[in-house]
Amino acid sequence: MRKTSTIYKTLIWDEEVSLAVLDSTALVNEAIRRHRLTPVAAAALGRTMSATAYLCSWLKDEKSLLSVTVAGDGVGGKICVSGDGKLHMRGFAENPSANLPPRADGKLDVGGFVGREGTLTVIRDDGSGIPYVGTSALVSGEIAEDFSAYFLTSEQRPTAIALGVKIGTDGKCLGAGGVFFQPLPGASEASISHIEKIIGDYAHVSTLIETVGAEGILSDIAAGCNIASRTVSYKCHCSRTAIRSLILSLGREEAESILREMGEIKVHCDYCNTDYEFGADEVHALFGGKDEGR
Ligand SMILES: [Zn+2]
Repeated sequence: MRKTSTIYKTLIWDEEVSLAVLDSTALVNEAIRRHRLTPVAAAALGRTMSATAYLCSWLKDEKSLLSVTVAGDGVGGKICVSGDGKLHMRGFAENPSANLPPRADGKLDVGGFVGREGTLTVIRDDGSGIPYVGTSALVSGEIAEDFSAYFLTSEQRPTAIALGVKIGTDGKCLGAGGVFFQPLPGASEASISHIEKIIGDYAHVSTLIETVGAEGILSDIAAGCNIASRTVSYKCHCSRTAIRSLILSLGREEAESILREMGEIKVHCDYCNTDYEFGADEVHALFGGKDEGR
């Protein structure tokens, strides 16, 4: 079982096309562990996390943030993924326990989980003050085509994408990842039509990742190219310290009123499925001691 996820990037075909190959098996297994995802939920969230990691790999600054929301009309509800320039990723599906029978071809019904009507929204914040927001309509809910449409309509960067997540009978991910071809400005017609011809070869990219790995895919298509690799990990930004400032921002009155009603303050982080509990004593200490009616 792979312990880390890695994205490899290189330029192929006389440097006319940017190629990225991602092995996100470990990332998807961490999402399954944190959210107890059904196989179809793992496939939908895993594909979305893989495509979002690719988007994050283009961020220039480590502190830049990027988030993706896939809001379709399927049984899984919304899928939210966010990451940063360090390729620290986190994400969740609104209904992680929603399940669907496999499709007629035996594949997990990701389109049914996500839904075919809806939007894909990307928010990119490079810290300059005004975040960039791009939205496109879902094409199939199968995620790869939806991201391809987003790249074309919102970023004007045609990108051929293959994504896959394979789940074993024990509910764990056996192989997950993606292959991304993006022709650079000025790429020749020959390169562009070659991408269209071979993208179908990666229809079973999860099986390729499971058997030959990202290295095997690269040795096949990018032999002799200069390949850069970066680690992708599941990491949430939340912390007890961050929740403390959140409680402080409520103000003493509001915090006291929650304590009176609930006996404690409980905050849940959807992204990593963690509960933070603050008892009355800790909340009082936070506001500099118990309010004695000053
Ligand atoms: Zn969290």
